[in-house]
Amino acid sequence: MQLKQKSAIVTGSTSGIGLGIARAFAEQGADVLLNGFGNLDEIESTRSELQREFGVQVLYSGADMGRPDQIRAMAELATARFGKVDIVVNNAGIQHVAPVEQFPDEKWDSVLAINLSSAFHLIKAVVPGMKQRRWGRIVNVASAHGLTASPFKSAYVAAKHGMVGLGKTVGIELAEFGITCNTICPGYVKTPLVEKQIADQAKAHGIKPEDVVRDVMLVHQARKEFVKVEELAALAVFLASDAGASMTAAAITMDGGWTQH
Ligand code: NAD
Repeated sequence: MQLKQKSAIVTGSTSGIGLGIARAFAEQGADVLLNGFGNLDEIESTRSELQREFGVQVLYSGADMGRPDQIRAMAELATARFGKVDIVVNNAGIQHVAPVEQFPDEKWDSVLAINLSSAFHLIKAVVPGMKQRRWGRIVNVASAHGLTASPFKSAYVAAKHGMVGLGKTVGIELAEFGITCNTICPGYVKTPLVEKQIADQAKAHGIKPEDVVRDVMLVHQARKEFVKVEELAALAVFLASDAGASMTAAAITMDGGWTQH
């Protein structure tokens, strides 16, 4: 087990990629704090199942990643219950697809707050403890859109590029303290976030929903398959483990070749 006696916060882990990462961390022996929205009964059954299956502590915080005060409270909860926070995965994210001139101001603000500023606030809250213990792992989940652009996603692309920049800066700044910070840039992964986009993309591009996957989403993804949550989770485990000690300030693609065209 690669993460025994470690404790982790994974934001946006009630669904999709975050849940896959939280599960893989628990399987590797880490205590995990789950975060995100959803049906509270379902979240509780996920929490208790993970706890039972892997024999680790699993907590839940419904903190809104758009709210710095709630992010700080979540970090305090994890520190109080686990005794420390060794690993943070900044994964929570939302999407909004619209032409730039029609992009609603409040959507711009919330995409930037949830997809980018939340990572800053959580990093700020956990770094003092990591510095003291001289060990820490920060894993950001950005996107291929952290490195390249697509039309109609101005806020998302801006936030994800920002995440790559934040990851580089924090990685360099904390390298001598035994803390790494890396940013994963996945291509399209079939999660609820992507399922929801199919109709919006069809409207924005003026094409049929059934053509969106082939002609828009996987058009540059040379492998022509969605990335799997389990593949991303295995990468996050590696980055969080001792084996990842020299890997820092990196933007790591897992996108079936998309950004290498
Ligand atoms: P998802 O919609 O399945 O999960 C998003 C998670 O974030 C959920 O747990 C949700 O409750 C949570 N969340 C949303 N708003 C929140 C808020 N204000 N506060 C707290 N939690 C909040 O999406 P996903 O596809 O698993 O995406 C996870 C991350 O991966 C996102 O940052 C996304 O941008 C990124 N990503 C996804 C893909 C993809 O194709 N699915 C590709 C590249 C990057």
